[in-house]
Amino acid sequence: MTPVKSIYELSIEELKAFLNANNLSPDLSSTIFRNLYKKNKHEQPISKKIMSLLGKNFSLTLPKIALVSKSDDGTVKFLMEFNDGKSVETVLIPFHKRFTVCLSSQVGCAMKCSFCYTGTMGLSRHLKSSEIIGQFIVAANYLEEELGMKTMQPNIVFMGQGEPLHNSDEVLKAIEVMMEPLGLCMGPRQMTLSTAGYLPGIKKLNNFPKINIALSLHSPFNDIRKELIPINQHFPLEDIFRELDGLDLMKRQFIVYEYLLIDGLNDRLEDANELEKLLGDRKAAINIIPFNPFPGSKYKRPSEEKVELFKEMLVERKLRTMIRTTKGSDILAACGQLKS
Ligand code: SAH
Repeated sequence: MTPVKSIYELSIEELKAFLNANNLSPDLSSTIFRNLYKKNKHEQPISKKIMSLLGKNFSLTLPKIALVSKSDDGTVKFLMEFNDGKSVETVLIPFHKRFTVCLSSQVGCAMKCSFCYTGTMGLSRHLKSSEIIGQFIVAANYLEEELGMKTMQPNIVFMGQGEPLHNSDEVLKAIEVMMEPLGLCMGPRQMTLSTAGYLPGIKKLNNFPKINIALSLHSPFNDIRKELIPINQHFPLEDIFRELDGLDLMKRQFIVYEYLLIDGLNDRLEDANELEKLLGDRKAAINIIPFNPFPGSKYKRPSEEKVELFKEMLVERKLRTMIRTTKGSDILAACGQLKS
């Protein structure tokens, strides 16, 4: 029988404990970690004997690439398949001289946001930390091996399929393993987690490393927001902001507020005024995302002029605002277009 526990679930301490229990030196853990996570830079291979011991106790497999689509703008979308045949999408997005990997945290999503393609699938299952880490390793290897790009290690955004805080324990475990200095050595500020406002998960954020936090705000009004994000009925803005205000932010850290812009719905003067009231005194950066249509979607993307106009309204109100450029929409790899 193949073991169910993946080697990629282990922290370095857990690996040491395993080695210890098998009468092996815990020092081997650094060689093993370097081999697992720094494939092309390892100094010393793992011996056959150790490999076979690991193979008997853990699954050593990574997700399989079932499909690759490449956009004209350099974005690469993968369909990654796990051992049980379920799959998610993972996206590599070029950003200046670096890439960002957009990781999925669940197969499907339970949030049912009315503007999101993934939401139409419903939730199939949570991903394990090893499956989250696996997406990163496979995408980073592809970048180096297939595209021959020896760029810096990609940044990470938890903005693929799923609500990361609905699976917060596995996401936290993945973050901690990816930060391990002998492994991927990711810095917390190289990772951004975006949430639809899942309150039980937001309450746990102070236990997370100091990663960047983004909230999908989309409207400063509860009645409009709950149309867009149904969980807002249970977790309204007042409750979300009470938690966010309690987060221990670093000196120059802002919370990013994603603002999906939909033609005629949330791009009005009163929206800008209310956003000023809500965010004016907070450490906030607004990221406008023009709506990306998908097959069967009911909303309209505003024209570029309207997007620019709304941005200007926010800037006039002294709100730090950016427009997120749409990447990969020709291959349905942009925000909200992911489906397996
Ligand atoms: N579950 C997380 C991550 C979702 S994806 C969250 O809700 O924050 C990242 C961003 O893309 C979110 O802000 C999400 O609301 C947005 N998004 C979803 N569908 C979209 C669409 N069709 N067009 C543009 N942005 C979309």
